[in-house]
Amino acid sequence: MDTRFRDYGAERRASVRAFYQLNHRHQCVDFVRAKRREFLSLDRRRMGVWEALGFLDTLVDDSDPDTELSQLAHLLQTAQAIRAAGQPEWFQLTGLLHDLGKVLCLWGEPQWAVVGDTFPVGCRFDERVVFAEYFTDNPDWGDPVYGTANGLYEPGCGLDQVLMSWGHDEYLYRVLRDHLPREALAIVRYHSFYAAHSQGAYQHLMNEQDRADFHWVRAFQPYDLYSKAEDPPDVAALAPYYRELVDRHLPAELQW
Ligand code: FE
Ligand code: FE
Repeated sequence: MDTRFRDYGAERRASVRAFYQLNHRHQCVDFVRAKRREFLSLDRRRMGVWEALGFLDTLVDDSDPDTELSQLAHLLQTAQAIRAAGQPEWFQLTGLLHDLGKVLCLWGEPQWAVVGDTFPVGCRFDERVVFAEYFTDNPDWGDPVYGTANGLYEPGCGLDQVLMSWGHDEYLYRVLRDHLPREALAIVRYHSFYAAHSQGAYQHLMNEQDRADFHWVRAFQPYDLYSKAEDPPDVAALAPYYRELVDRHLPAELQW
């Protein structure tokens, strides 16, 4: 991995450390279940992709040590990097969409409940999760069930059965579930699960399908990360290409 990115020791943004302290304290089984009940009914509003992108133009991600640009800029940079590599349209579209779940901030959700790396809850927190030392503040820490390696789950049950810490990945996966190919949905759903896709943790909960899907999650990761070094994208110049791509693959409005 290019060491200029995800260097949390550099103290480039002290807010990143403060972010993970809150995230790891509050993301427990009860919290995740409550947020899934609150948001996964997708009955808040109907909204097109372009409207959601417009909102993300106002959002800077506190968990990200690598960029101070808006999330719209980040999505366009990611899509452009995928396009420049000659990757297929569905992959470019996934790059453009992958962080749209951050519209959760639109409904007043704090960033620690929207962004940052994700990890399973309901089983032992792996020390390969970033800032794992803060898990000692989590109510599930040392729980007789949730504190064990398998916790609530059967070994090899597959990640679809696993409650992940709540955030933009699972939320956007549900919004797009009926509209994108399986590989794209895996990227959306697990792109923040760095402990698994980049550190090899939580293999014992995965099944064969997950291992196949994670080929794509890992293929996506460099575009998400390394495109951040570039200059801000020219939104007006790029809009026609991506509007057309969105219009061809997705309905005019999605249920959020
Ligand atoms: Fe993301
Ligand atoms: Fe991203």
